[in-house]
Amino acid sequence: MFSKILIANRGEIAVRIIKTCRRLGVKTVVVYSEADADSLAVEMADETVFIGPAPANQSYLVADKIIDACKQTGAEAVHPGFGFLSEKAEFAQRCADEGIVFIGPNPHAIQAMGDKIQSKKFAAAAGVSCVPGHIGEIDDTAHAIRISEEIGYPVMIKASAGGGGKGIRVAWNRKDVEEGFPAVRAEAKGAFGDDRIFIEKFIESPRHIEIQVLGDKHGHVVHLFERECSIQRRNQKVIEEAPSPLLDEATRAAMGAQAVALAQAVNYDSAGTVEFVAGQDKSFYFLEMNTRLQVEHPVTELITGLDLVEQMMRSAFGEALAFAQGDLKINGWAVESRIYAEDPYRKFLPSIGRLVRYDPPIEGEKATYTVRNDAGVREGDEISMFYDPMISKLCTWAPTRAGAIAGMGRALEDFHIQGLGHNVPFLAAVMDQPRFQSGEISTNYIVDEFPDGFHGVAPTAFQIDALTVSAVFMQRKLAARARQVGNGLAGPLTRTEWSVVVGKTRRAVTVADAGDALEVTLTEEGRTLRLTQVEWRPGRGQFRGVLGGDPFTVDVMPAAEGFVIRHRAARERVLVLTPLSSDMHDRLPEKQKADTSKLVISPMPGLVVSMDVAAGQTVREGEVVCVIEAMKMQNIIRAEHEAVVKSVGPKAGDNVAADEVLVEFV
Ligand code: ADP
Ligand code: ADP
Ligand code: MG
Repeated sequence: MFSKILIANRGEIAVRIIKTCRRLGVKTVVVYSEADADSLAVEMADETVFIGPAPANQSYLVADKIIDACKQTGAEAVHPGFGFLSEKAEFAQRCADEGIVFIGPNPHAIQAMGDKIQSKKFAAAAGVSCVPGHIGEIDDTAHAIRISEEIGYPVMIKASAGGGGKGIRVAWNRKDVEEGFPAVRAEAKGAFGDDRIFIEKFIESPRHIEIQVLGDKHGHVVHLFERECSIQRRNQKVIEEAPSPLLDEATRAAMGAQAVALAQAVNYDSAGTVEFVAGQDKSFYFLEMNTRLQVEHPVTELITGLDLVEQMMRSAFGEALAFAQGDLKINGWAVESRIYAEDPYRKFLPSIGRLVRYDPPIEGEKATYTVRNDAGVREGDEISMFYDPMISKLCTWAPTRAGAIAGMGRALEDFHIQGLGHNVPFLAAVMDQPRFQSGEISTNYIVDEFPDGFHGVAPTAFQIDALTVSAVFMQRKLAARARQVGNGLAGPLTRTEWSVVVGKTRRAVTVADAGDALEVTLTEEGRTLRLTQVEWRPGRGQFRGVLGGDPFTVDVMPAAEGFVIRHRAARERVLVLTPLSSDMHDRLPEKQKADTSKLVISPMPGLVVSMDVAAGQTVREGEVVCVIEAMKMQNIIRAEHEAVVKSVGPKAGDNVAADEVLVEFV
């Protein structure tokens, strides 16, 4: 095996590769840009080489800098990860010319498959079923219209050099082609420096199913079964799983055989992925081949027990595959959720910033499922605007699909992130959704099920109960503490009658301590909720407990008169009131909803840690306006829309009340 390799990448995939190298006793060199100087990958590597400014085209994409770094450190081989230089045939060739091993396929295979038009020609010749369409370049708009009408609408206009969901557009009619063709061409020119376009049939409501292949330099190729990646937003994968709930043995074998045939046609000698779209009737058509490690490779590792990075290293070193197709079996089911720094409540806009809290679920075997979390970040790290906004890839494995999904739901509960918007609540909504659970999915799933975006879901009966008992517990703890420090704010600790408001539900309860449990009896229903095994202390944004026999974890934010508590996708304001103040709440006249569109209002009482805007400044939607600390947690307040700041209320160091005006816009 190699004694030292260089990782020409960053973030979670650099960390992922280091882990395998450590296990194999291979030393690692990590290159890093200015933005990554303090990254986890840099901390974990045996050696590091600085390669320039944050923008990738001045650092991670500069082949000369990578080659120099190899020479400088004596690294024998380069693992490119994904993105960046991973699919650049010239880079693989350059490595070979310099006597450095490229841990990936040979340059000819990258070249042949890197281009969508050319790869379809290879695929057709290898007997692979292709999407009906025109395997060739389109000259101009008139040509595009003629071809589209031959194929029949809807069609997809695609950049031959496209990738990462860019350079793709659906056309439903002639007008769409007239607009879409020049648009895709311009986008392709800008993004890939290559404006060759082709057109194929758009398969409606298909599934994305891909086959993992693995080859060596001795002519062997096997496939490691499929992954289903149909849960996509804007043609980008969000949730993946292996195996696919659609496939039966015969279809799996047929897709696998076609993928292997294509790989063999180009002498493929590393890990690679052959992507297909599949109809609900199990018909399938070749889309493209990715000649690199795939983002979602962990789900394949979880069902096969193989380490794909290790396999790539062995094959690059010249070892023959140690197993044949017949030795491989699918074991259980795995699901991956891509945790992104984006705000699901605000049209999934990117939400970069600092991970003020980053507390992922603990990896390893649980009672009914296994957790794996591939991350390249630690608490306090910044998710910057320069690279992919992915925070981590959370995977669960279980013997069955239902078990892996249930495990993912629990693991997402245990994922605690603060400081920026993240899609954990959205992912949890999908795990809890009947259609996803049924496996009857398609690439339209997100648009079908969340047509107006994501606004959280209504709490279930269990969730209302969980929010009730957590709030009662926290309220009592906080009151006891306030009484200890003697600031007089505490209510009588002996009070047992309360009124708990969870969103729109109000319930009278009687509270009692019963040994290690807190018992909350719902007065009207006569039902008693038993809360045990609480893990929480004031200041913590995460509350764990067991309700009845069911463990749960909720996220907690202080709010005026109570808390905002989120369990999975259900987020509600929760108030614990005395019966008297509850009555008063009822009798208060309905508050006139003031026009607050020009105001930023403090959602809670607290201390202003920083005021990040000044009068006259323009703020964009999602930009940080100020940071408020309450219950020892930092809460980042962002602008809801673009606006110009007219005036600023408090400054850093000031205390603010709930509903106090922080900033006024023009
Ligand atoms: P996967 O199929 O592994 O999910 P994606 O197509 O989502 O792969 O891309 C994986 C990574 O590579 C992402 O970081 C994406 O931004 C990047 N990427 C893919 N193709 C290109 C390309 N042609 N140019 C630049 N980046 C790309
Ligand atoms: P990229 O290189 O950006 O990954 P792909 O060709 O793999 O581009 O397409 C990305 C996604 O777009 C696929 O996963 C699939 O959901 C959708 N897609 C691509 N081609 C078609 C098609 N012909 N019909 C329907 N959906 C398609
Ligand atoms: Mg693709």
